[in-house]
Amino acid sequence: MKKMLLLPLSLLLAACSNTAGSNTSIGGENDKLHIVATYSIIADMAENIAGDKAEVYSLVPVGTDPHMYDPLPADTGKVSDADLIFYNGLNLETGKGWFQDLLDVTNKTEAAFALSEAVTPIYLTEKGKESQVDPHAWLDIQNAIKYVDSITKQVIAQDPDNEAYYLGNQEKYVSELNELDQYAKEAVGQIPEDKRILVTSEGAFKYFSRAYGLESAFIWEINTDSQGTPEQMNRIIGIIEDNSIPALFLETSVNPKTMETISAETGVPIYSKIFTDSVAKAGEEGDTYLGMMKWNIDKVVEGLSGL
Ligand SMILES: [Zn+2]
Repeated sequence: MKKMLLLPLSLLLAACSNTAGSNTSIGGENDKLHIVATYSIIADMAENIAGDKAEVYSLVPVGTDPHMYDPLPADTGKVSDADLIFYNGLNLETGKGWFQDLLDVTNKTEAAFALSEAVTPIYLTEKGKESQVDPHAWLDIQNAIKYVDSITKQVIAQDPDNEAYYLGNQEKYVSELNELDQYAKEAVGQIPEDKRILVTSEGAFKYFSRAYGLESAFIWEINTDSQGTPEQMNRIIGIIEDNSIPALFLETSVNPKTMETISAETGVPIYSKIFTDSVAKAGEEGDTYLGMMKWNIDKVVEGLSGL
């Protein structure tokens, strides 16, 4: 019943956004692929591959949590118009079913591709959640390369005439990704072994930690959880004190209050912001996937090694 009511309104709004859009402008904008990504990290990867052959639109804005999102009327229009829709999968875009609802209402399920499909999932660790996958696979750069390969394949399938262009972009981008991956693996060696524990609000660093030789600890395991219960607070304070952890990290896409409380209670400083589910605002350091990963690696190494 809910969908029946939603559908006409969404289609109407989609139609409005079409008329208001710049599709009538001169310059062949109509020839470009229309790519929608669920959040900014995937949008950046898609831009690296599709370059000037596509318009890439991110549904979830920079700095906002992709686990939970309330789509705007403009989002419905963008999804309706999309040639390709890229999402993470692995249970990321599932809060209140926001993304599936958007696909259903626009009838675009067949244009949507989960980029994490080639990734070996890591499961949540909390009691009762062991059968649920952790979505944050992109924080291991080798997984990001799998995302990029999948984007390239789908873009070429949509626009085979420009295959050589997309393959060239892929080759260049993947070589930069591999270089940063190698840099990360070496940089973590500067942290004393007993200090290689990364404390963040959300437990988003399982893939990152496994790839780069750290342990990760968190207040809450996943953003769809309740955030900062007394039990969660006591557990993380215990870990910080038992391991004499020198630095805490605060993700840009979570509410900062809980980590600030932990810092005040333990006397351990929040060393830096860190990027998990979003890139930085355009023009700031970390405004690309490569930039945010470099930032994360450098700040974690500095904070935990006292450099
Ligand atoms: Zn997350």
